[in-house]
Amino acid sequence: MTTTTAEPASLTLENLRKTYVARGREPFEAVKGMDLKIRPGELIALLGPSGCGKTTTLRMIAGLETVTAGNIKIGDRVVQDLPPGKRDIGVGFESYALYPPLSVRENLAYGLKARGVKGAREMVGRIAERLEMTELLELRPASLSSGQKQRVALARALIRNPRVLLLDEPLSHLDAAQRQRVRRELKVLQREFGYTTIVVTHDQLEALSLADRMAVMNAGVVEQFGTPDEIYDNPANVFVADFVGEPKINLFEGTVERRGGDVHVRVGREGTLRTAVGDADDGRPVTVGLRPQDARPAADDEAGVPAEVAVYEDFMEFGLATVEVAGVDGRIVVQTPHGVHWRRGDIRRIAARPDRVYLFDTDSGGRIR
Ligand code: ATP
Repeated sequence: MTTTTAEPASLTLENLRKTYVARGREPFEAVKGMDLKIRPGELIALLGPSGCGKTTTLRMIAGLETVTAGNIKIGDRVVQDLPPGKRDIGVGFESYALYPPLSVRENLAYGLKARGVKGAREMVGRIAERLEMTELLELRPASLSSGQKQRVALARALIRNPRVLLLDEPLSHLDAAQRQRVRRELKVLQREFGYTTIVVTHDQLEALSLADRMAVMNAGVVEQFGTPDEIYDNPANVFVADFVGEPKINLFEGTVERRGGDVHVRVGREGTLRTAVGDADDGRPVTVGLRPQDARPAADDEAGVPAEVAVYEDFMEFGLATVEVAGVDGRIVVQTPHGVHWRRGDIRRIAARPDRVYLFDTDSGGRIR
């Protein structure tokens, strides 16, 4: 698809803060000093639990919310004091009003025609096809379902040709199959147009699959900013490890045991796992992180953690064993490969690749490297 695209710009947040002040209530700091440098054309996902400040951040960038402190820059230009219309930002917020008397097609073409873009009608048709909304083009906005409105809002944001595109939960109202297809198409379109894009989501699969890099937020701060691989393979702390990954990572207590040059961790009464951690004192209590996908049955001559299978769920491609380890609080989930069939009551030994056994400080939750 060819269009005159604005030059992609970097987007920089410097020590960005937002404190909400409401009469009769304590001031509430929703964003606590955010630093992010987003490269031109990059797609960033802001991921985090409900209430962590994602939407507030997006609204500040869009100019829909005032900034308490810090800077927002597009390229070299500081924009936080500019009105929303002067920032050259496209927002795909679903609540963004469409003109009720116009059809969806006319709504979408309006902005293009206003900019004097030739072939507006064809461009609208092509985008509509790719976002699976051709059948919506002749409808009026009032007759659209929430999922349909969402696709129209997305199309409108893409067509606006902004330097920065902000999308807040852009696929949340679509059914699972459509979400997958529109997600793929969104990524392709974002690449073609080259927009610098932030997508807010609380859906980690959406973030992992869409984003060049993602920022994992918690209680108003960015806990980690990196590529999906960096974040999945090298979580910076317990929060990130716990938030990213499906099924959830196992977190349990352990004690460091140094043997020669190797670092092991003692788990429960009889278990040990070797880790690739370099710097941990013998006897140090730690929180161990082990993803279900990284745990595996131990080889015959290998140390490991003896465990009793409490529940075994067979999904054919893989199985999920929920196991109990003597001396460990809570249960541990282990993903077994295709063809392995464990049963309730089996005693198995669990092992893992040393670089996949993460250790965290029991107080701060920070990663021990
Ligand atoms: P969700 O995924 O649920 O949309 P979020 O990460 O987008 O959550 P925000 O909507 O940015 O979170 O809200 C962050 C925090 O700020 C929340 O605790 C919320 O209650 C609070 N908050 C948001 N808007 C206001 C406001 N106008 N006045 C006071 N507090 C607010």
